[in-house]
Amino acid sequence: MADVFHRPSEWAISPAERVFRITWDDGKVTEYEWDPLRRACPCAYCSGEGAFAGNVNANTKFSEAQTTLNEVYAVGRYGLTPEWGDGHDTGIYTFKMLRRAAGLD
Ligand SMILES: [Zn+2]
Repeated sequence: MADVFHRPSEWAISPAERVFRITWDDGKVTEYEWDPLRRACPCAYCSGEGAFAGNVNANTKFSEAQTTLNEVYAVGRYGLTPEWGDGHDTGIYTFKMLRRAAGLD
């Protein structure tokens, strides 16, 4: 199987539904609810690194601000960084990760 590397052709933040939506270059559309998206933050502070377990797990209670998606920025040509309502913006979600989370290759 070829390792096809898909990129978003556009993305949108939908505050009414608290959803982040990506339209991919192959026409697929994927949606991410803000709360699980924040919980999956891959940065070292949230998810840990090496022997450090990280500050976020399945039982972590988030504030409204922490799960409010303010803005999303492109990171190079491989990922996206969300900026959350509490200012947290250190998580880089790779395109590959976002595709996999939605069950796409
Ligand atoms: Zn984080």
